[in-house]
Amino acid sequence: MNTFQDLGLNEDLLKAITDLGFTKPSEVQDKAIPILLNNETDLVALAQTGTGKTAAFGFPMLQKIDIDSRTTQGLILSPTRELCLQITNEMKLYGKYCKGLNVVAVYGGSSITDQARDIKKGAQIIVATPGRIKDMISRRLVDISKIEYAVLDEADEMLNMGFYEDITDILSNTPEDKCTWLFSATMPKEVSVIAKKFMENPHEITVGNKNESTSQVSHEYYLVNARDRYNALKRLADANPDIFSVVFCRTKRDTQKVAEQLIEDGYNAGALHGDLSQNQRDLVMGSFRKKQIQMLVATDVAARGIDVDDITHVINYQLPDEPEIYTHRSGRTGRAGKTGISMVIVSKSEVRKIKSIERIIKKEFVKKEIPDGMEICEVQLMSLANKINDTEINHEIDKYLTNINELFEDTTKDELIKKFFSVEFTRFFNYYQKSKNLNISESSSDRDDSGRDYRGGKSDSTRYFINVGSKDGFDWMKLKDFLKEQLELGRDDVFKVETKESFSFFNTENELKEKVLAYFTDFKHEGRFVNVEVSENRGGGRRNDRKGGERRSSKPRGDRRSTGANSENRSSRRRSEGDSKPRRSGSSDSKSSKPSFDRPRRSRR
Ligand code: AMP
Repeated sequence: MNTFQDLGLNEDLLKAITDLGFTKPSEVQDKAIPILLNNETDLVALAQTGTGKTAAFGFPMLQKIDIDSRTTQGLILSPTRELCLQITNEMKLYGKYCKGLNVVAVYGGSSITDQARDIKKGAQIIVATPGRIKDMISRRLVDISKIEYAVLDEADEMLNMGFYEDITDILSNTPEDKCTWLFSATMPKEVSVIAKKFMENPHEITVGNKNESTSQVSHEYYLVNARDRYNALKRLADANPDIFSVVFCRTKRDTQKVAEQLIEDGYNAGALHGDLSQNQRDLVMGSFRKKQIQMLVATDVAARGIDVDDITHVINYQLPDEPEIYTHRSGRTGRAGKTGISMVIVSKSEVRKIKSIERIIKKEFVKKEIPDGMEICEVQLMSLANKINDTEINHEIDKYLTNINELFEDTTKDELIKKFFSVEFTRFFNYYQKSKNLNISESSSDRDDSGRDYRGGKSDSTRYFINVGSKDGFDWMKLKDFLKEQLELGRDDVFKVETKESFSFFNTENELKEKVLAYFTDFKHEGRFVNVEVSENRGGGRRNDRKGGERRSSKPRGDRRSTGANSENRSSRRRSEGDSKPRRSGSSDSKSSKPSFDRPRRSRR
């Protein structure tokens, strides 16, 4: 692999690259930059978002244009306003040492006069959404007749959004001999048509396989009755307390409905769809970026510009009509070198769609089970324990300590801990204790109460808790490999691996229990004690009563806890999950049916 120096970039760009902390070129940069720098050529590049493609076309464009001239020489078309702003921002960062550089963003929903004024000052590069630039061309507010480089970014998305005519129109106002660089995540027929129509012998590069979804993403599906879809969504959220997700619905109506239900049920959710004004969409996106919204419920069109790097989960509440769209959805997670999970909630009639998606993404889905209530209680409890452990002490409390100590004079430490955790645990426990199994089997319409094990319904396995998770660099695949390697086990001996932020679960057959527990007694990994215990949930074992505070503390970390969002939508209506009624447990808070350890409901306005 080349270094940035090897690619032939100039000093100004290399300095900016150092400032940005990019140490080596990504695959698409490694392949595209030398071609674009050394040739006046057209290019078709198949690359997902998150692969570093902005820099792949951005660096060569910045190096090739004449910055001393005020003529517009580069035009970058992008499908959405968000992406347009993101590209502009990146281009400015890449070109920070290119003195006199002026990159202007042109997009709808913002003053056209201001944008025209910025262009008039002399913009060497314009980044635009098709609708707005077309408008500006027709009003003669912009001159793109001397463009040397045109980029069609996320070409498939632009065509999906119906911009074919606009793109054709815009390009007809540019010189014939310009270079056109087309970037697309997938190569449907329509993109090939554009490539043929506007390009001459383009160089072609592919990052990963054509139409393959990003390798950082694992794909899971959950089979439930259609009527349980919403409850399944809530359980997935509850089982992942630190979730930061986009939830996809098919229609604007469903998007709004699901978001409203989630908000009513106490989740930090927001809706993003085309019936909202630009201002409302900006507000929602702002809250999402600040992580005040943990679950952004969106339509495909509205979600196209979402360019947030650390989305942990994409949840397909409903599958898209076109299986190809799934690639765009799942590509919202697993960006910038991070791992992500794309979950699909399906009813039996939709299971066959999973197969067609698998063919497109060239990856297999793992069939997973919606967690049962007690598993969620355990996850939430441990998440709370970890958060408390990570909490910095507020010494303002010191002055009240005498009174508090007096109150608990006769309470042992054990009792105190139990009481403390019960405040929250009881609420979750009451909510979930009688909750039903939401999973159904593929072959019968009966509920699959025994089917807890996706390896084929066996129940003679042991479920373990382990005190490492994603913040220790594990996703479920890495943890599975780690356990197999440490314990010298075979491919299928470790299963049902679920990683949470600071802890995880996994299963083995019962006969391996002693070996597993013995191996992880006093076991250290990277200087830290790794503790494994039998989990009470799933697999039938009791939690091992090894006491003595063996569980090591987790490292302090940034807390992604949200404050409430969209408070105006909150109501006191209560929703119950199936038959189980959420009950208050001495709490004065009756606003939400969702018991929550993570969401600070009491502080809500
Ligand atoms: P993009 O695919 O252009 O949306 O880029 C995704 C993210 O990766 C952006 O935040 C870029 O700043 C970042 N990025 C681009 N190139 C590199 C690189 N070579 N090394 C590390 N990060 C990069």
